[in-house]
Amino acid sequence: MEAGYSQFYKRTPEERLAIIADQLGLSKPEQQVLKQHATADDLSLLVENYLTTYQLPEGIAVNFRVNDHDYVVPMVTEEPSVIAAASNGAKQLAKAGGIKATVNSRLLTGQVVLSDVKVFASIDDWVALHQNELLDAARQAHPSIVKRGGGPKSIRTRDLGEGFVSIDLVVDVKAAMGANMMNTMLEAVADVVQNKLHHTTLFSILSNAGDQSLTTATVSVPVAQLADEQQKAQQVATRIAQASRIAQLDPMRAVTHNKGIMNGVDAVVLAMGNDWRAIESASHAYAAVDGQYRGLSQWQLEDDQLTGTLTLPMPIGTVGGATKVLPLVGINQKIASIDSPEELMMVIVSVGLAQNFAALKALVTSGIQQGHMKMQLRSLAMSVGASAVEVPALVNQLIKASDPNEASARRLLEQIRN
Ligand code: NDP
Repeated sequence: MEAGYSQFYKRTPEERLAIIADQLGLSKPEQQVLKQHATADDLSLLVENYLTTYQLPEGIAVNFRVNDHDYVVPMVTEEPSVIAAASNGAKQLAKAGGIKATVNSRLLTGQVVLSDVKVFASIDDWVALHQNELLDAARQAHPSIVKRGGGPKSIRTRDLGEGFVSIDLVVDVKAAMGANMMNTMLEAVADVVQNKLHHTTLFSILSNAGDQSLTTATVSVPVAQLADEQQKAQQVATRIAQASRIAQLDPMRAVTHNKGIMNGVDAVVLAMGNDWRAIESASHAYAAVDGQYRGLSQWQLEDDQLTGTLTLPMPIGTVGGATKVLPLVGINQKIASIDSPEELMMVIVSVGLAQNFAALKALVTSGIQQGHMKMQLRSLAMSVGASAVEVPALVNQLIKASDPNEASARRLLEQIRN
């Protein structure tokens, strides 16, 4: 088997397909599917050993009103109900006057880490004394970002304990996510440390913490809007606030609470060609910022208003990375009317808040399954091979079935076809 994969990276996608098919016994129809989805454009250069292009559906969430602007938001996800819930949540929040969002700051931090430090103060003093030289080295390593009005802003040291010290560089990365430009600058800083301080560095890399790109979305919903009848509305508001509180108290619930938020956040981050792993890790770290993992959003009931707030680290970019290579990103930015990275940060966090509102409201009223069921049945229908024409009929049958499952879906599909 090993011989077949030798020099695999040098093969064309067609040759790789032939090798994979041969080694793993892919059928002709399976090979055809892989071939059909392969593209000849830049996508094949984005990753190593390119074989084909994996597709995900994109939908549009509607009804978003953020800072008095109306938005429609492209979302890429494989999960049914997410886009419907975001649109539904956004509609209710728009009716309440819409979401207000702010970007607290937009800077990126990177680390040059030193090991075997005997006296922290010696490094701390040296960095303080040489900070201009270190910042200059960073500037010279990536002068174009300085020309764009950004670049290195400050440098500081932190004692990590056990002889480890982090030299933190803070950079204004303008409209980019900034990972590569930051890493280039950090390596230049590390060179100065090694050559002048004569201390070996362990590694240099950006931090994905994103704590200098915090973005907040907030909304106040009149309680009366939550149900037709006053007493019921009060009950819904109380239950949403309680569900939110549980996510502050119980990490087990907080994980699920936050997963619901990330359903919306990731889908927009992906549609905008950004690194969703970076946003995921930053968000979950922020959820544990005080030492306990907690819900990222909070809903509080005061008088006749239910107020929700969500703050997330949102170090995304509107240029660079994969944004120009993925063919749909430019169009998606246009659909969402995104003019700046700050605007995108605010829209993404607003989607997270609307998603969370819709999920909590469903959870404490009808339960999560009622809304999801039809979508899940659609997935079930597709998974047993129903065509686009057959899906609605099969879903209708499955709704009536006492125990909709794969076996019953196959049986009902057979009946529809005969
Ligand atoms: P790039 O390396 O593509 O750098 C951004 C580029 O955009 C720069 O070269 C810059 O050009 C150009 N640019 C054009 N207009 C602007 C503007 N207004 N502001 C800023 N830059 C502009 O991308 P990033 O450095 O942003 O890195 C992002 C990628 O790095 C992502 O794909 C991510 O997955 C990946 N990555 C992530 C890591 C992590 O998260 N830990 C680690 C390593 C990589 P010019 O040079 O002319 O200034």
